[in-house]
Amino acid sequence: MIIRFWGVRGSAPSGNRGTAGVGGNTTCVEVRCGDELIIFDSGTGIRNLGMKLLGEMPIKGHIFYSHVHRDHIQGFPFFTPLYIPGNEFDIYGGTSLPTPIEEVLNQQMTPPCFPVKMDTLGAKINYHGIKPGNVIEGENFKVTLAPLYHPNGSYGYRIDYDGRSIVFATDCEHREGKLCEGLSKLCENTDLLIYDAQYTEAEYYGKDGQMPRIGWGHSTWNEAVKMAEAAKVDRLILFHHDPSHNDDFVKKIEADAREVFPRSMAAFEGLEVDVSQPDLPPSMFD
Ligand SMILES: [Zn+2]
Ligand SMILES: [Zn+2]
Repeated sequence: MIIRFWGVRGSAPSGNRGTAGVGGNTTCVEVRCGDELIIFDSGTGIRNLGMKLLGEMPIKGHIFYSHVHRDHIQGFPFFTPLYIPGNEFDIYGGTSLPTPIEEVLNQQMTPPCFPVKMDTLGAKINYHGIKPGNVIEGENFKVTLAPLYHPNGSYGYRIDYDGRSIVFATDCEHREGKLCEGLSKLCENTDLLIYDAQYTEAEYYGKDGQMPRIGWGHSTWNEAVKMAEAAKVDRLILFHHDPSHNDDFVKKIEADAREVFPRSMAAFEGLEVDVSQPDLPPSMFD
């Protein structure tokens, strides 16, 4: 199982010189289970993934949405493979949404907010409403999910493939002194956890001179480590970086996390992880 990170920011893209190392695109992660293509979310990072996929046509893939906040869907209309006949995508979104995933993506491509309508997409698209308890099986992989604590809801996903597993859990706030039970179970003994570590504790509690971020739906590296330790996770990737965090700030978060959980690193655009390898690859800062 190979994981590639195309967008690692949360909330809003952050393109400037200070954040260029870690990358400024919002959430998009590619997972390959042998020949099968799985994509988590279509933040702005999916545009670059689409450019790469043009060399692999025709494409058949699965897109799983954690949820539909803007930073997780806004790259969808810029994902070129969607416009090309012969490609096929299965798209999965939560049934807990008041609006089905197809309708949310359609609304995003409606004038005057966007000039190109959804009906111009040439690929075959199959939409699926899913909920915790469901098991989605591909030809060689299995996906399970758990609800996360986040405004308007969010899902964490686990992929099992060839004796390995990963968990993608972004947009997830911890609860004071209490581990999220569903997520903890999903993460049990997984090889690799990708977790929302948007804030430092100083930011989360408002000790940085700004307002507290409690209730905003995001977590800290400290809680990422707690979850990794409690669920006996092998490797941890800190994800959904705040747009205000420049490369030096993310470097410090990674160093602090490694003091407590050495097998951790901060996600960056272009990071590729082969889950079958025993160790994480070098980080941006190694
Ligand atoms: Zn987000
Ligand atoms: Zn969100």
